[in-house]
Amino acid sequence: MNNAPDHPNGNVPPQSPMRPNGPGQQGPGSPMPFNGTLILWLIMGVILVGWLVFAVWQPSLGSSGENISYSYMLAQAKAGNVASVKFNDTQITGTFKQPTQSDLDPKQKQTNFTTYVPNVGNENPVPTLTSEGVKVQGAPPSNGGTGGFLGSLLIQLLPVLLIIGAFWFLMRRGSGAQQGLFSFGQSKARLYTGGKTRTTFADVAGAEEAKVDLEEIVDYLRAPDRYQRLGGKIPHGVLLVGPPGTGKTLLAKAVAGEADVPFFSMSGSEFVEMLVGVGASRVRDLFDKAKKSAPCIIFIDELDAVGRQRGAGLGGGNDEREQTLNQILVEMDGFDSRQAIVVLAATNRPDVLDPALLRPGRFDRRVVVDRPDRPGREAILLVHTREIPLASDVKLDIIARNTPGMVGADLANLCNEAALLAARRNLSKVTMQCFEDALDRITIGAQRPLVMSPQERKITAIHESGHAIVALMTPGGDVVHKVTIVPRGQALGVTQFMPAEDRHNYSKNYLLARIAYGLGGRVAEEVALGDITTGAENDFQNVTNIAREMVTRWGMSSKVGTVFYGSEREVFLGREMSLGQQRDYSESTAAMIDEEVKKIIEERYQYVRNILTANRPLLDKMAEVLLERETIDSNDIKAIMREMGIEQPAGVAVG
Ligand code: ADP
Ligand code: ZN
Ligand code: MG
Repeated sequence: MNNAPDHPNGNVPPQSPMRPNGPGQQGPGSPMPFNGTLILWLIMGVILVGWLVFAVWQPSLGSSGENISYSYMLAQAKAGNVASVKFNDTQITGTFKQPTQSDLDPKQKQTNFTTYVPNVGNENPVPTLTSEGVKVQGAPPSNGGTGGFLGSLLIQLLPVLLIIGAFWFLMRRGSGAQQGLFSFGQSKARLYTGGKTRTTFADVAGAEEAKVDLEEIVDYLRAPDRYQRLGGKIPHGVLLVGPPGTGKTLLAKAVAGEADVPFFSMSGSEFVEMLVGVGASRVRDLFDKAKKSAPCIIFIDELDAVGRQRGAGLGGGNDEREQTLNQILVEMDGFDSRQAIVVLAATNRPDVLDPALLRPGRFDRRVVVDRPDRPGREAILLVHTREIPLASDVKLDIIARNTPGMVGADLANLCNEAALLAARRNLSKVTMQCFEDALDRITIGAQRPLVMSPQERKITAIHESGHAIVALMTPGGDVVHKVTIVPRGQALGVTQFMPAEDRHNYSKNYLLARIAYGLGGRVAEEVALGDITTGAENDFQNVTNIAREMVTRWGMSSKVGTVFYGSEREVFLGREMSLGQQRDYSESTAAMIDEEVKKIIEERYQYVRNILTANRPLLDKMAEVLLERETIDSNDIKAIMREMGIEQPAGVAVG
């Protein structure tokens, strides 16, 4: 870790806190608002509303009174109780002589009625009605109710049909997510073929070993015949294993690009989404398509999403996922050995994969894609600055040195952020400053416009100077790179360290130094201000973590001894066990661990107190310079120390 953010809840914010001016992404499948779709929806809306109004109003149009049945109307007419009727197509409205009781409300009497000519039986009611002395206006439709009824039914249903049609049309038009829902078993595999924009190994840097491993696959895909003539068996399944963002997907594309074969790509999570039974048929479809265009590559990204161990897990299995997985196994077994198809898969959790996937004949070849080392990072930066105009002061090796732990995706993001910053500053080239600021933004968060009170600024300056001075005076730790009291993200101030090299392995001495300068902030407040603040919470968290790991995992406490007390149970979480972490040791051991952790920190606290008390003038001076300039780097610190005639202890390097 090369940064030590401070102060209230100063957690390092996640990568890439903001992407300024990022253009809103419009996926290929998102409907374009004015390309007919909206208009179609509008028309549908109007039709729907119109139809509703029509449907609600129609019975009351020109009609009054209650709906009664046709036979009831005839019966009333025969009883001499109907005064008049009026035919309006199939509708009949009329009046009773005597008000009859309403069906709806027995207390109400009804003189008007409405009824309809039935669509069965062609009996003409007019003679009956006139013979009963009913005044008749108009005439019923000659073919009885049938035609009219069907006609009006059609009219009433028309909008519904229209809407159904429009829906169907929309769904066919829509692609992407909508299509996914309706094109059930079809694989959504994206197909990449050569062309100008194809990815090659030149686009992948810092993964030389992986490239060497994949070289053979490329060779085979280029000339499968040559291999087959010699009876060689080329692996059908290759598993790319590595942390996220290390370039696994990129490598798979590069293999296809180098071999110049089609590339069918699909993500494991896509198999699992949505409807039951879809995953397996998608797999079938994907492999069918691929077989038709062999030689080719099938790439299954995020294999662990489908390939988790089956039948494990307390929450019950996921049938859908298991069927999909089974189908993958079946398809891979079904390969003709002469078919030049290579299935590449990527995962960052090889430990949770179902063992059946890893058996010979399936994903039996493993290519590890690791985090890049320093030269690797420099090479990746080179790749991603190919198209960026760089100012002459940009030193990629320095950036590589300052970015330990970052993977290809982080570095690509860094270059992009730097270019965006340069654009915002109206520069014609991207300068080193842009890179530095982009790095700060990514690792610590963007500069925050926060008004700090003079008192707060002073405390922060003292606090950060404390971190820096303890680091300067403690052999074996990291080198101080930069100290700032410009608030960023959650932190009020930051002391940045620059590791001399990547570390894969920490010495006890180094860890004790880390604890020491972690405590430096709080102790400085105590020594110089006689009061302490809440700003050291995050420091304490880091320091305690280090001390606890020293005791429980790294055997660095003589009292606890060289025993591993860390919990390995976490691994099972990946297998869908909801066990959570459990302690594998007794209460008394736990108490002893706590005691040892406390002892380490207290001992370091005393050490830091001594350093800062002895260097009180330097502490005050550095805080003063910080208050004035807000940010100082290692050269400024060297100058201050020279000015005050202070020597660094032997074994401490100033960067
Ligand atoms: P993964 O699949 O391992 O999670 P990706 O292949 O998706 O990682 O990487 C994301 C992006 O990061 C790539 O598109 C590329 O721009 C960049 N990247 C990652 N690794 C490398 C690398 N080794 N060399 C160059 N660029 C890389
Ligand atoms: Zn601090
Ligand atoms: Mg990927």
